[in-house]
Amino acid sequence: MNHRLSFWLLASFLLGGCGQQLHQSNRIQWPTMGTIASVRCSTPEDAEAAKRYCETIFQRQETIFSVWDGSSELSQLNLTAGTGAATACSKDLSHVLVKAMTLCQESEGAFNPLIGPALRIWGFNGASPVHQQPGNEEIADALRLADWRQLHTIQSSTNSVSVQIPLQGMKLDLGAIAKGYAVDQAYATLKSAGCSNLLINLGGNLRAIGESGKDNGGWWTGIRDPFGKRQVFARFLLRDGEAVATSGNYERFVTIQGRRYAHIIDGRTGIPVRGMAGTSVVAPSAELADGLSTTLFILGVEKGTEFLTRYHPECRAIWIPDTGKETDYAIAGNWQPNQLEILDKP
Ligand code: AMP
Ligand code: MG
Repeated sequence: MNHRLSFWLLASFLLGGCGQQLHQSNRIQWPTMGTIASVRCSTPEDAEAAKRYCETIFQRQETIFSVWDGSSELSQLNLTAGTGAATACSKDLSHVLVKAMTLCQESEGAFNPLIGPALRIWGFNGASPVHQQPGNEEIADALRLADWRQLHTIQSSTNSVSVQIPLQGMKLDLGAIAKGYAVDQAYATLKSAGCSNLLINLGGNLRAIGESGKDNGGWWTGIRDPFGKRQVFARFLLRDGEAVATSGNYERFVTIQGRRYAHIIDGRTGIPVRGMAGTSVVAPSAELADGLSTTLFILGVEKGTEFLTRYHPECRAIWIPDTGKETDYAIAGNWQPNQLEILDKP
């Protein structure tokens, strides 16, 4: 089992509730999109039906957004880099790309969908293992290929944009936002199919429909303790329609000369973010929660709070800095009293 999958097997136990088995009567989980998905419903029949819907949707999203599958729409688009070709993207890819570019502009390149080459020089995304930290020149090259100001999307029809990737070697990576989008797709389909109480979880991207039981007001869910001192760091209430996403330095990382580097790279410097263990964001859509959790992980508490207040005041966030001390957490946004519980407060 690869490292990422084993992490999510553990995380999905925690984030989705207190499941002890892979297949509880009203909760089902299965591997998909390089991670673990789960659904929780009121009855086993509902869970089975919801899983079938989600499975089809997630498999389809993988054929669009995977950077591991050379035949995915995104991989094919990346092959056009530097050729001068402008490619009309599907509705799904167009939508996610435009959202990703918006976050990129808002964060002035901290969140950067052209992060692909920078990920590879640190040994991510299928690159050969790296034995020493990339040098300044290598980092400068990757940053040149991450120059998002050169990437333009042109509306080619109502739901589609055309993209010309200007430089050879540029590579789009939408791993920071595509899972959230997939969850929103599942959410919309399940809602229109009449599903009334359900919690969807795709690798730590959750969205709620209804509530877990009568008068519960939503679904209580948990954030894993990144320091592993207790199972759950905090619990909070996810209300009908709300979504939460978590970005963590423990999810995926490489070790170079004994030092761990996380898979989230600051798009402005080309260097993996240090000092942050985990960031979770509650938002009105899973796509926004996903994009923001990565952005705020990079920006950190101070800049991230300013960013949230300025661009996304409807959202709320929690940061757990990598100090080893759970008490060092920070929150921002519209948390309501009684909807966030930090466990084992000192
Ligand atoms: P998440 O777990 O949602 O925070 O997403 C992490 C993934 O986002 C990584 O595995 C990369 O595929 C991608 N990524 C890393 N750094 C960035 C960045 N600066 N901007 C956008 N995507 C990134
Ligand atoms: Mg994300």
